[in-house]
Amino acid sequence: MMQTKPLDITIVGGGTAGWMTAALLAKATKGRLGRITLIESAEIGTVGVGEATIPPIQFFNQLLGIDERDFVARTQASFKLGIEFRNWTRTGHSYIHPFGSYGANIDAVSFHHYWLRARALGDTTDIGDYCPAIVAARQGRFAPEIPQGPASAPLLSYAYHFDAALYAAYLRDFATRLGVTRIEGRITGIRQRAEDGYISNLDLADGGSVGGDLFIDCSGFRSLLLGQTLGVGFKDWSRWLPCDRALAVPCEGGREITPYTRSTAHTAGWQWRIPLQHRIGNGHVYSSAFMADEEAEALLLGHLDGRPLADARPLRFTAGRRDKAWVRNVLGVGLAGGFLEPLESTSIHLIQTALFRLLALMPTDVRDQATRDEFNRLSEIEYEQIRDFLILHYNATERDDSDFWNYCRTMPIPDSLRHKIDLFRARGRVARFDGQLFAEASWLAVFLGQGVDPVGYDPMADIMPAAELQQRLFRHRDYVQRAVATMPAHRDFIDRHCKAP
Ligand code: FAD
Repeated sequence: MMQTKPLDITIVGGGTAGWMTAALLAKATKGRLGRITLIESAEIGTVGVGEATIPPIQFFNQLLGIDERDFVARTQASFKLGIEFRNWTRTGHSYIHPFGSYGANIDAVSFHHYWLRARALGDTTDIGDYCPAIVAARQGRFAPEIPQGPASAPLLSYAYHFDAALYAAYLRDFATRLGVTRIEGRITGIRQRAEDGYISNLDLADGGSVGGDLFIDCSGFRSLLLGQTLGVGFKDWSRWLPCDRALAVPCEGGREITPYTRSTAHTAGWQWRIPLQHRIGNGHVYSSAFMADEEAEALLLGHLDGRPLADARPLRFTAGRRDKAWVRNVLGVGLAGGFLEPLESTSIHLIQTALFRLLALMPTDVRDQATRDEFNRLSEIEYEQIRDFLILHYNATERDDSDFWNYCRTMPIPDSLRHKIDLFRARGRVARFDGQLFAEASWLAVFLGQGVDPVGYDPMADIMPAAELQQRLFRHRDYVQRAVATMPAHRDFIDRHCKAP
């Protein structure tokens, strides 16, 4: 029988996942679905990290109708054109994974095949010189768009770095203004219906109780409903992604704000540097099997740009995901559903895509198994694609200076990634999959950056006469240099355009 009454949704947790869920559901359903209630506990707190994003977050903000200037001002945000990877391929080496592209297809052939052909003819120009995000990042400049250019003109795209606590507060204001009920309290008991094990009520420490039809578990690593209560298992991927701890510390920044995240590889993991308007976020992600906590902390503190503003905060995790994201009337979103380390800033994105998927599959009856199966199928594909992309960074390295890197370089990798590497190595082709998050330019950046060099290129790129090829590539590079030269310094852009109205 179809459920006809409006669906009441109860969200457990008020971290980034909980408030993104509340904000989007409130906005998208315009109050016509049923009650939306969020329970959070200040006593338990949030994970408090998660400050670097990827470009699709712009869609999320647009859907909410957020004004970018207000958002950047209120979350102390900065703009992000990509991620610089230092010491990943070998010590002293660096490359940038840019947002946007290197160039548009020419005659249906991907731009980079022309670059590969030119290289084979002796051209030594860096592929980064064709990409506005990379050229602007290197010069510390930012603008949200570039002037029109030649036919092969690349796309420029960007994301944000923001203060995680300010972001959650921003979304909380937004969601409560749209009618979401916020309950402050600790959940101490979870009641399930005897007949089918569906969750019926959440009991709070103060004696209150909250019901609901659909429960969205945003309780963080605890996975209070999905993992602890329903006993949904966890797919552990730590054999491929062995980092399991992090230490996070903010430090003072200067006036200049780099428009990119930096990831610096150390001997058993890597350190993030996320520049915000008012401080720099830093963290060391490492494998406890290969490094002691004290050494990890010393490395982190020894690589800060400024004075630390707090003690280093320890975090523990396991790479992987819940066997199923949606079981009975519980949907796990955020850390409650799984975690892939922050190397490519994908966790907040995974929250966003889970929510878009929920909106696309919004049930009228929470017992609809086909809906749950479809949701779980799509989540699995998405997680596995991101997993492969992350493993590539660790596996395709020349580093042999520590047991950690020797392990990563020689570990068996998933067949799906092996196929992608083999395909790229042969002719520079990037495998495409439905709904993939990381597009060709991203894989290209990391393949080339990590030293996976293709032997050949697409023979279709040979059709263009060599003189025309040289001329087109020159015009493209020239256009990128000129376009970037018109961009202001990143801090100046923020000062000029992103003050609270
Ligand atoms: P949490 O923030 O942990 O929130 C859980 C909520 O549940 C809290 O409000 C808590 O109070 C509540 N709760 C739990 N139990 C109860 C209870 N019994 N009763 C009531 N309330 C309860 N992501 C990115 O996209 N980019 C990054 O750069 C990035 N960096 C990261 C670095 C590290 C080291 C880690 C560990 C994660 C990083 N992430 C990053 C992931 C990102 O932090 C999370 O995806 C995001 O913050 C969402 O967390 P959450 O809301 O799922 O969990």
